[in-house]
Amino acid sequence: MSKSYIKCSECGTVNYNNEYCSNCNALLDIALKRRIESENKIQQKIEQERSNEPNKAEVFLKNGLKHSNVIIRFFFKAGYAVWLFFAVIIGGIIAAVTAAAAG
Ligand SMILES: [Zn+2]
Repeated sequence: MSKSYIKCSECGTVNYNNEYCSNCNALLDIALKRRIESENKIQQKIEQERSNEPNKAEVFLKNGLKHSNVIIRFFFKAGYAVWLFFAVIIGGIIAAVTAAAAG
């Protein structure tokens, strides 16, 4: 069993045989740190791709548009119009906020 002193790359505290810094709790094993960081990036990419999938509410409303009952179809049409309306409004607000934050 090898014991070693590892200097924390975050705060400079020397730790004896620790996995995490005793001072700031940063991960000391650089190889492990890199692996965790790359895993986080993969996870982010997966979540990004997932958010690109068609929205569940939109799919639900689109299915309703094909309903055999004309009254139900009418309600879904109205709901879909409202949904699209709010999607545009919210998208516009997000774009405006992002533009304002960017200056
Ligand atoms: Zn530290």
